[in-house]
Amino acid sequence: MIRTIFILAFSVAFALRSSSQIPKCGNDRISTISCLRPEKPDFEHAHRVTGSTESGYIPVFFHIIYSRESENIDQRFIDLQLTELNRAFSGAIGADEEIPAEFRPAVASMDIRFCLQGVSRRFTSKSSIGVDTSLFLDEQGRPTIRNPSRCLNVYVANTGPAIAGFGIYPWASTAIRDGVVIHPSYFGRAPGAVSSNGRTLVHEVGHYLGLLHLWADDTACNFDDGIEDTPPQQHGWYGKPEYPSYSCGTSNQFMNFLDYPDDDAIRMFSKGQAAAIVKNLATFRPELLQAEPCQSEASDAFVIFPNPSRTTIWIRSGGAIAKKCVITLYDAAGRLVVKADRIVDEIPRPITEVALPPGVFIIHVDSHAEKIVIY
Ligand SMILES: [Zn+2]
Repeated sequence: MIRTIFILAFSVAFALRSSSQIPKCGNDRISTISCLRPEKPDFEHAHRVTGSTESGYIPVFFHIIYSRESENIDQRFIDLQLTELNRAFSGAIGADEEIPAEFRPAVASMDIRFCLQGVSRRFTSKSSIGVDTSLFLDEQGRPTIRNPSRCLNVYVANTGPAIAGFGIYPWASTAIRDGVVIHPSYFGRAPGAVSSNGRTLVHEVGHYLGLLHLWADDTACNFDDGIEDTPPQQHGWYGKPEYPSYSCGTSNQFMNFLDYPDDDAIRMFSKGQAAAIVKNLATFRPELLQAEPCQSEASDAFVIFPNPSRTTIWIRSGGAIAKKCVITLYDAAGRLVVKADRIVDEIPRPITEVALPPGVFIIHVDSHAEKIVIY
């Protein structure tokens, strides 16, 4: 599909490409920006070894920056996105037959897993926040990044009409600007997403871990991504390419996550890429892999108070959000006591409509879980 909206800064870089090769990424010209994708015009809408750079958990902190409710990504889509990320690093997505026999021996299966460290939600009055530093700072100008040496920061934000996302290369990160930025329309399996399989984030995390596009943004076949088992290619492929597809005199591995086809047509990292990730982790992000899965931080999306309480416990939004949440409440024996939809906004509401007897309960609101006590 031909889509036309570019930001001016990138248009020169791609002037020589044909109209059928609309670029999605621009990291050959802008070292920290690794991905651009054109948008639809209807835009509204592991085994574990401590200290190893080959296996472990990468904690992920999601910064949801939204100006409209549809961009305030629900927790269940964050969970699905994490699942997709873990599937991608575990091995090829889909049946073996979907990878051409030529490339099957190259399919990587990594012992790297991603876990949820936390989620913050921040309202912005800007309908398009762009890609400048305001992405990485709060309203008071303070950096929002969470411990980048030990945490992958993912910013989900409306970056504008041409940008699907970008991953900041490990050699290009700064103290306040690191991680991955992704437009909500390309995030996970959220309703209305332009790409619906969560692979844009997989692609960007590849950049974050130091992988280049297979063609290294060189269209002259002079050099490629430097990975031995990804054949040289001249350009990115789009849509659903048919196998075999050739450029630079080779059969191209267009089903690689670091190419450009549709979400459901990219499904593998190569072993060479996996080795590069290990090397890049050791060189640039030596503290990132954790031996143990995340101890999730409490989401700041909700405030539950007072706790303990003699009578009623209340819930309200921790920020300027208003959303419908599924609230479940279990007693100390693990029995479900309440399951209900609740609007959570700035108005405090009782967490249950009936008075709870004295006791200890566990309340789940989206992915947030907390012990509450009635006495
Ligand atoms: Zn890219």
